[in-house]
Amino acid sequence: MKKDIREISLDEIKDYCVSSGMKKYVSSQVYSWLWKKSCVSFDDMTNLSLSNRELFNKKFTINSISTDLVEESSDGTIKSRFLLHDNNLVEGVLIPQNKRMTACISSQVGCSLSCVFCATGKIDRTRNLSSAEIYDQVVLISNQAIKKYDTPLSNIVFMGMGEPLLNYKNVVRAIHYLTSEEGLNMSSRRITLSTSGISKMIRKIADDGLKVNLALSLHAASEEKRNSIMPIGESNSLTELRDSLKYYFSKIKKKITYEYILLKDINDGLEDAKDLYNFTKHVPSKVNLIEYNLVDGLDYDKSSVEKVNLFIEYLERRGLNIGIRRSRGEDINAACGQLANKN
Ligand code: SAH
Ligand code: SF4
Repeated sequence: MKKDIREISLDEIKDYCVSSGMKKYVSSQVYSWLWKKSCVSFDDMTNLSLSNRELFNKKFTINSISTDLVEESSDGTIKSRFLLHDNNLVEGVLIPQNKRMTACISSQVGCSLSCVFCATGKIDRTRNLSSAEIYDQVVLISNQAIKKYDTPLSNIVFMGMGEPLLNYKNVVRAIHYLTSEEGLNMSSRRITLSTSGISKMIRKIADDGLKVNLALSLHAASEEKRNSIMPIGESNSLTELRDSLKYYFSKIKKKITYEYILLKDINDGLEDAKDLYNFTKHVPSKVNLIEYNLVDGLDYDKSSVEKVNLFIEYLERRGLNIGIRRSRGEDINAACGQLANKN
């Protein structure tokens, strides 16, 4: 089987060039085609001689992704289904907002974590995405943003399918190619990793000095309640999470964003607001309250307007920095937690 060239380093490409009689600088040309120009075919690398293109074709492949299906919501949100080289499917979403053009991308095929409210959690995790597959989603969604809205992407959020911190190596490498001079040179300040809370990996982000935004899917701030909706809590207690977030903040000095879906009659009472408030006291943070997006076959509902208002009032009176995220693209199952490879 041919090797995927985007899995190897510039030095390894250089070695191949030298060993097969090509000039060394050809490796830099190829590298730049791959990561700067997002080229996915050796035949399109027009400054390479035909014989050099042939040499690369003989030894390597480029496992790119392609857009398989596109659906547009009445609110302008565009959901794409991407076909991977081994016929797996993942989804990504373009979300146009007033001042933002956000790409929401996937990190795994399916998810192993089974949060009870999430559509992706119902699909088993098949495999991790490679860094190039993550990068490709950004490129394809970015092309849509230009074509459809004449606006470049401003933000990237890892809020599609999968748990990014369980595919850490590839996610970090993808971020490198999205943000560095070697790649697309996007701003890391505009990238958000959303995690269900793997404390060990939150510490690793801090140790590695990864300067992206961190969003923690909290959804309940009492141990028992959180474990009942997010099984990952069993092995990552709130105390451990809190300590890892403190550690993260001490190193990275960036506010944490807590995500909190308001689930009707489950986590939307004043007791819950109090737990949330207490949890947020430990590290500088803001809270995004998220409207629940309905998922077929799941028995959860959005909180009532009255309860949401009381919840917000409780937190605001205590000075919490709160944002509210309404559903986007819900009519085409493109909203957070609805991605499940079906249309
Ligand atoms: N696995 C990571 C990132 C992908 S999920 C995580 O859990 O953080 C992205 C966000 O969508 C998370 O905050 C998740 O809790 C939220 N989400 C899942 N299902 C949802 C639903 N049905 N409605 C609203 N948000 C949902
Ligand atoms: Fe996985 Fe995130 Fe969905 Fe939980 S919310 S099942 S961690 S994708």
